[in-house]
Amino acid sequence: MSTTRPGTWDRPRLPSCVGSYTLRKRFTFEAAHFLPHHEGKCKRLHGHSWLGWVEVTGESLHSEGPQAGMVMDYARIADIVKPMVEDYLDHYCLNETLPVISPTSEAVAAWVFEHLRSSGLPVSAVTIEETCTSVCTYRD
Ligand SMILES: [Zn+2]
Repeated sequence: MSTTRPGTWDRPRLPSCVGSYTLRKRFTFEAAHFLPHHEGKCKRLHGHSWLGWVEVTGESLHSEGPQAGMVMDYARIADIVKPMVEDYLDHYCLNETLPVISPTSEAVAAWVFEHLRSSGLPVSAVTIEETCTSVCTYRD
């Protein structure tokens, strides 16, 4: 097993890999919602500690500048995700802040994906964990 780590190669170039890189940035928010069409208890107003993952995929790395060796700086992803969480998700009722009748985890994931894309983030997938055991991923 090699003992070299990224950034310690003696070759002055990036590895010429044929695969791709997927960055995953996590975000969290507390929010209420209700599902008006649901036949069970999810029809009632209730809250969750939601967990989200934003994925950005790239096949090449920046070769120079402050993002050298990166697909994208994680801080740039956070800079786009944070205002979305503060303005639409955290401590809101999602039925009021999102343009959907029934904010299921599927609807939240799709909305986050489209919102981040329209904000300029080259997102490749969004995962929303409504509970520890109920998770939805939206990708194009
Ligand atoms: Zn729920």
